[in-house]
Amino acid sequence: MCEAVIQAGVALGLPRRDDLNGIDQEGIGYFPTTIKHGRRVSAARAFLTPIKRRPNLTILTDATVTRILFKGTRAVGVACAVNDTLREFRGEREVMLCAGALQSPKILQLSGIGRADHLRSLKIPVICDSPGVGANLRDHFGLRLHYPVLRASGYNPRLRRLRLWMSALQYLISRTGVLSTAASKVGAFVRAIPGASRPDAELSIDIPGTGQIASLSTLQCAVRSLRPESQGSVVIRSADPTAPPAIHANFLSAEYDRQLTVHMVRYARRLLRQATLPKFIGEETFPVPD
Ligand SMILES: Cc1cc2nc3c(=O)[nH]c(=O)nc-3n(C[C@H](O)[C@H](O)[C@H](O)COP(=O)(O)OP(=O)(O)OC[C@H]3O[C@@H](n4cnc5c(N)ncnc54)[C@H](O)[C@@H]3O)c2cc1C
Repeated sequence: MCEAVIQAGVALGLPRRDDLNGIDQEGIGYFPTTIKHGRRVSAARAFLTPIKRRPNLTILTDATVTRILFKGTRAVGVACAVNDTLREFRGEREVMLCAGALQSPKILQLSGIGRADHLRSLKIPVICDSPGVGANLRDHFGLRLHYPVLRASGYNPRLRRLRLWMSALQYLISRTGVLSTAASKVGAFVRAIPGASRPDAELSIDIPGTGQIASLSTLQCAVRSLRPESQGSVVIRSADPTAPPAIHANFLSAEYDRQLTVHMVRYARRLLRQATLPKFIGEETFPVPD
């Protein structure tokens, strides 16, 4: 069925790619996955585990950074809650903040870098008035189209009831089978808006997808924008580091994102109507054609 989806893309004019992360982005093919001996490999296992013993490296887990420490306007370390104790760590050269798209702006604001009036309203001393911090959140909004799988079995039956146990046994014995694979097998980077100069959308074809495992086999085609223009925000609501920030995704607030979404759905429908596929999938069941 995956091959039929890839052939459908080729019929639409997409180049078949052996490496979707290659130099030319446009195309369709199997997603690369970080799976070794049937197990998903995390970034920590891939990159940290092999160098754990280096004398110049200390890995500290269960430690929550509460703020960056400054000398004037220069970052010199971090304050950290470790097992309910507040500890300070100082850097000789530099402090690199890489707490992700949501937590990095939160830590900056807690440390006094953000919109000055907002920080003052929370009684946080201002190190730098930087209104852009937390103000440019972009997430690749996506939708999923659903199609019933007709002939090939898909994954779902092998993830339910007795066959789930068989899948588990197969996995335990040989680290193969449905439990050793990724949910999303086939991906495509496409120009959904006619005339676009480079790909503007990502399609991922999941069998059955990452949601609840349905009793019937479903093919899901997710469409996601590559360069969303809608801007959301991440703003702290309190000087308490344990309080979650207010997150506003602001999806589809930009006209470009709305137009692109319409074109992405149309593109996915064209792809899944190609001649290679009708014997495998039925009519769209979600969001339904009208
Ligand atoms: C559901 C999902 C699916 C995705 N699928 C893909 C995919 O298929 N391919 C792909 O390329 N990308 C994918 N991404 C995106 C990818 O995961 C991110 O782009 C990437 O992980 C970002 O890396 P990062 O190091 O910037 O942040 P993160 O991976 O978010 O790492 C931030 C780290 O900081 C830690 N942290 C946060 N706050 C603190 C604090 N106060 N103190 C101490 N530590 C803290 C967090 O625990 C986390 O470990 C996916 C993302 C999601 C959410």
